[in-house]
Formats: sequence, structure tokens, C-alpha cells
Amino acid sequence: MKYKIKGSKRAFTLVLVVALAVAAGSVLYWRQITSWLERDAQVSLEADAKENATNISHLLSIQLQVLTAVAVSLEEEELEDNARLISYLNEQNRRNSFQRMGFQFPDGKTLFSSGHTQRNFLSKSDVDATYEHSHFISAPRPDPFGTEPIVTLAVPVRKDHKGYGIVFATHPVSFYAQALAVSSLGSNGLSLLLDREGNVLISYPQVAVKNIFEIARGSVYDAGKSAEQIKQHLAQGESGTTGYVYNHAHRFASYVPLGYNGWYVMSVLPTQSVAEKAQRLVLLSLVLCLSVIGVLSFLLIFILRLQYQSAKELYKMGFIDPLLKSDNLNAFRLKFADAAQALREKKTPPALLVANINQFKAINDMYGFERGDEILLQVARSLQNELQEDELFCRSGSDVFLLLLACPDPETLGKRVEKMLENAGHGCNIEHKQVHLRLTGGIYILEEEIPFYIMLDRANLAAASAKQRAGSLYGFYESESLRRLVTEKRIESDMEHALQNAEFKLYLQPKCDFKTGRIVSAEALVRWQHATQGMIRPDWFIPVFEKNGFVVPLDWYMFRQVVQALKKWIDGKLPVVPVGVNFSRLHLDEPDFIGKIVRIADEIGVPPRLLEIELTESVVCGNLERMKGVIDELHAAGFSVAMDDFGAGYSSLNVLKNLDFDCVKLDKEFLAKGEGNPRQLQVISGLVRMIKELGCHVVAEGVETQEQAKFLASIGCDMAQGFLYSRPLPASEFEMKLQDEAKK
Ligand code: C2E
Ligand code: CA
Ligand code: CA
Repeated sequence: MKYKIKGSKRAFTLVLVVALAVAAGSVLYWRQITSWLERDAQVSLEADAKENATNISHLLSIQLQVLTAVAVSLEEEELEDNARLISYLNEQNRRNSFQRMGFQFPDGKTLFSSGHTQRNFLSKSDVDATYEHSHFISAPRPDPFGTEPIVTLAVPVRKDHKGYGIVFATHPVSFYAQALAVSSLGSNGLSLLLDREGNVLISYPQVAVKNIFEIARGSVYDAGKSAEQIKQHLAQGESGTTGYVYNHAHRFASYVPLGYNGWYVMSVLPTQSVAEKAQRLVLLSLVLCLSVIGVLSFLLIFILRLQYQSAKELYKMGFIDPLLKSDNLNAFRLKFADAAQALREKKTPPALLVANINQFKAINDMYGFERGDEILLQVARSLQNELQEDELFCRSGSDVFLLLLACPDPETLGKRVEKMLENAGHGCNIEHKQVHLRLTGGIYILEEEIPFYIMLDRANLAAASAKQRAGSLYGFYESESLRRLVTEKRIESDMEHALQNAEFKLYLQPKCDFKTGRIVSAEALVRWQHATQGMIRPDWFIPVFEKNGFVVPLDWYMFRQVVQALKKWIDGKLPVVPVGVNFSRLHLDEPDFIGKIVRIADEIGVPPRLLEIELTESVVCGNLERMKGVIDELHAAGFSVAMDDFGAGYSSLNVLKNLDFDCVKLDKEFLAKGEGNPRQLQVISGLVRMIKELGCHVVAEGVETQEQAKFLASIGCDMAQGFLYSRPLPASEFEMKLQDEAKK
């Protein structure tokens, strides 16, 4: 028996389902989050690119305005004075924080705020562009005075509507890169300043890529926006967003026109960073979820443990013997049906054994309860050690033990139980001193479906009767069938000895004349005066002897008894009547059956006319020819023959017609059936008439009442044998009865 907790299975299933749901949910959640984050990243990328573009174009426009203001003020100045011009430029440069400023005369002479002079700092195309558009912004170029590339902004100075020179200012590339660095994309982002051919002018952080279409060869563009399309967008000044794979990494890119020189600002973000973000988010959620599940599981386990503990406690209380720490009666009863079934399936019928210690109270009184408990434990362990598969044990009362045992057959089980009880009784010791106990057991072999308490009653009954029988440690509960079996066994084991010991006694029952009521003959009936069992009726042992053949020697013994009794009467000049002797059908197979009858009678010296041989109807039916021969031989030798138990089986008048019986004995059951049954009475009277017509005497057996006697007399029966006249009497009593009658 396990301590089962209701719902524990359900709870575990629930946890499992929740865990699976969390796993599935996490995958969906991760996908959803990724898609949201991607969309979000695209939107913020666009915004970022726009903001960068605005910032840079704002910066450039302010710088151009400053330069324009300087140009206007220079229109009023005499520019021939180089020293004055340089100092002016120097001052403006300081005020507006350019890297340096400069002025280029139409002849190409160039003065710098730093005091340097040079020729043609701006190329002719630069100069032309400046005059044409009123401003000029160069792509990054090498710095003649430094290592970092510079961007130059220039505006024309006009006098009288004529180009008078160009004022310019420079900034290192890093200055604009700083503006690009103001990005919301964080460390993963990349901001680029591109020209309309896709050349990378400035980047933050710095990248090695010179042209964004350079990477087109190794990349895959998404969303239907091929590299060509982007090229077109750049050529036409349109903005857009795209995704592409470069160096095995997926990226998003958003591009926005700057408004100067057809330049673009592009913001790039690897999707991986979005995925990483999503993963981090999902991971975080997962950790949260798992922690919740963990806490819940912990709680669940805690609660289940509590339940388990209390179930265990309850089980202990309800099903465990507190002393032996093994099954108690409740547990025994619970397991009983299944275990019994298992034994039946193994073809060893189950048996219930009740064993108890005799005089256990005396042990308790003598040694005290503690020692008493020790003894109980030792006895219990000894009994338990003998258990085999599917057998059960429990203690049902203080010193009462119940065992469910396999019973291959009563004899084997009996021997095993005897050994068990002996071992348990002799295997105990207190303080290393052996204590001899006596255990008594009662066994009930489970034959029928009856309630447990009745089985227990029966086993107890068997134990009680075993206790009464001195010398026996155990006893079986004997059902009718079992008792019969046991009796048969006992009869068989005792019969030979009984015959030698003259335990079989001759009884004689008178057959009386209906008309006079006087004894006219008798029937010899055997009685067994058993040495220990008392008087046993022939109904019990004759059928057993017919089975085992012992009826043959018994009949000869009885026949001799009868002949000797007759001889005694003759010799003693006592009244003599003929006596009927029963012979079993088994004699028909004896080769010298008749010869033996003749010899015995002759040997002892009794005339055959005083002996009547009773043969039963069933014998006759089976073997008509043999029977005919037997009857003829008996007649020839001077014996008379009676048909016994007529009407008990398949009565056949045919048999009667063919066989020359002297007498027919109507079976007592046949007569009993006539009680209050006029038709049966008619049948009887018809039969009696026919039997008489065949020339046979008729004896009615089992006559118990005057009515029966009157009726039987009225229909012509000759003799009556029954309790109404006399019970079977011991030979000596019969003898006296006969003498008494003769005196009348
Ligand atoms: P059975 O030969 O039919 O013997 C008559 C039985 O009827 C006897 O039973 C007798 O006691 C019983 N009986 C007589 N009058 C009455 C009555 O008024 N009412 C009732 N209810 N019964 C009555 P018993 O002595 O117990 O013998 C039983 C059977 O055992 C006999 O039946 C016979 O078949 C057999 N038997 C007895 N002795 C021998 C024997 O020596 N050899 C053989 N082979 N069979 C014997
Ligand atoms: Ca008889
Ligand atoms: Ca009879």
C-alpha cells in the first residue's frame, strides 16, 4: 500500500503543461517582440537619419550665413592691404571658430587667416561653382597644412556686381563627424554622409567602405529595394529605408537628402542588435516566468510534501501495527481479496490461518508488558519470515496473528503450519534465555465466497477445536465435503485394523409377519464400533468400502458371524429364524462366490434354508445372465435369494419376471413416497399384486407407522421390517427377543 495523495498527478501534469505553454509562448513572444523591435528600429532609424541630416544642413547653412556676412563686410573694405585683410580674417575666424579662414583673389592668390599665402587653394571649377551658386561646399580633401582631410565652405565677394574674390572657411572632417555622432542609435549604429554617387564623404564611426555600392556586390538588399533603386533614389534626391545583408549580417539603412550638393545622410543599424535586444527582452521575460514557475513549483512541492507527510501519518495510523511496524488488520483486509485471487490463479487455493499464543497473559504477568512486546515481535518475525509470494501477515489482536497462506493441498499446508507454529514457539528468548511458547492455529481453506468475518469465525472455530485436542498444534475448519473427505481417509486407514480387532458387530433386525406380528426372519446389518469414534453407521463406511473393495472381506466376515450365530441357536436349542445377509455387487466378480457360501455354511454346520442372500436391484440390472446363474446355483445349494431395495432405482418388472427370486424387499424410500400420495399407493398395491403373482414373498422395509402397516397388510404384503416392530438389535438382544417371543 502506497500513501497516495489525491490530485498530485494532476498537479504535476498542470506544472508540465504550464512549462510547455511558457516555452511555446516564449517562442511566439520572441517573434512578436523581434518584429515590433524591427519596425521600431526602422522608424527610429528614419528619424535618426532625418535628424542627422537636419543637424548637418543646419550647421552648413549657419556657416554659409556667417561666411556671407563676412563677404558682405569685405565688399566695403580695401582689400589691397594684405596685412589688414589677414588680420580681419584672423579676427573673424577666431570669432566664428572655423579651423581657418582665407581669401582667394581672382588672380588665384590666396591669403589665410593664419598668415600663410598660397596660389589657387580653390580650383577653377570650385571658383566657378562658387560664383554660380553664391556658395560652395567641398567634399573632404587633403589639408595643405595638416594631416586630417578638410571640408571647405566658400562664398563670393562682389564689388560693383563683379567678382572680387572668394572668402572661405575650412573645418576638419572630424568636426562634421561630431555632428553625425549625435545619434540615437547607440554604439551599434553607423552614420554616413554620402554624395549622390554613394561615395562615403564622412562616417561616424569611421569605416573603411569608400562607396556604399561597393558593398552592393557582396550584399543582398531587402524589401524589393535593389541597389539600383537606391542609386535612383540618391540621384533624384528621394529618401528611403532598406535592409541588406553585408558580411553575413543583416542591417537596416535609412537615407535622407541633406539639401546641399545632392548629399545624403545615411543611418545604418545591424538587425542583430535588434535581435539581441529582443533576445535580451525575451530572456528577461523568460527568467521572470521561470522564476514564477520555480516559486510555484516549490510551493506545490512543499504543499504535496506536507500532504504526503500527513497521508503517511494517516496511513500509519490506519494501516500499520504500532508495535510490529507492519500491516495491521485493516491493511490485511484491504489486500486480502487481491492476494487470495493471485493465489487462486497460481492454482494454490488460499487458506486463512489464525494463530495465537497459548497463555500469553501469563507471560505478560510473569515478565511484564515490555518483555511481552518483545516476545510478540519475535513470534511475528518468525511467522513473517515464512511468508511466500502473495501471502499476507498481520496481527489482529494482542497475541493473535492472521496469515493468508497458499494451500497446495491440506496435508502439505498442515505440515507447513505445524512447522511454522513450532518454530515461532521455540525461537523466542528473553535476555538470552530461550522461552518455550505454544502456538495454536486454525486453518480455513477458502472454498466459497463468504464475508471475511465468517472466514475468520471458521478459522477461529478450527483453532478452538485444535486447542481441545491434546497434542495438536493446528486444526482445519471442516466443511461438510471436507469432513466427508477426512472421514473417508480415517475410515480407510482404520478398516483393516478394525476387522482384525473385531470392531465390526453383527446387528439383527426382525422381519415380522403382517398377520401375526411375530418375528419370522431377520436381516443382518453391520455396525462399526470404532475404538475412538464410537459407533459408525454403515451408510458412512459401506459406500467407501464399495469403492475400495473392502466390502468383500467385510461381507464374508459378517456372513460367518451370521452362520455362527445360527449355529449357536441351533446347538443351544434356541428358537431359530432364517437370517438375510447383504452381499455387495462386487461379489459377482468373485470366481468362487457360491462355492464359498456353501463351504462356510457346511463347515460350520448350518442348513442353507436358514440363510437368505440379499442382492440389490442395481446389481441385477447390470448383469442379467450372470445373475440368473448365481440365483440358480444358490437355489440348487438350498439357499433362498431376496431382491433388495426394489423401487429405489429403475425398477423393472421385466427383471423380476426373468429372475427367480424368492423374496422382494420394497425399498423404504418407495414406501415413504406413498405418504399422503394416493397414486403412489395405487402403484405400490399394483406392484405388490404383480410380484405376488410371480410367486415371490414381499417384504416392506422402513415400516414406521400403523397406517403404513395396515395399508401394506391390506394389499397383501407378507412381511414388515421397520422401526414400528424393532430397530436393528445387537445379536444377543435379538436372541433374547426371539426367546421371549417363543415363550408367548
Ligand atoms: P438395507 O440393506 O436396505 O438395510 C436396511 C436399512 O434400513 C438399515 O440401515 C436399517 O437400519 C434401516 N431401517 C430399518 N427399518 C427402518 C425404518 O423403519 N425406518 C428407517 N428410516 N430405516 C429403517 P443400516 O443398518 O444403516 O444399513 C444401511 C445399508 O447399509 C443397508 O441398507 C445395506 O445396504 C448396507 N449394509 C448394512 N450392513 C451391510 C453388510 O453387512 N454388508 C453389505 N454389503 N451392506 C450392508
Ligand atoms: Ca438389505
Ligand atoms: Ca434394503
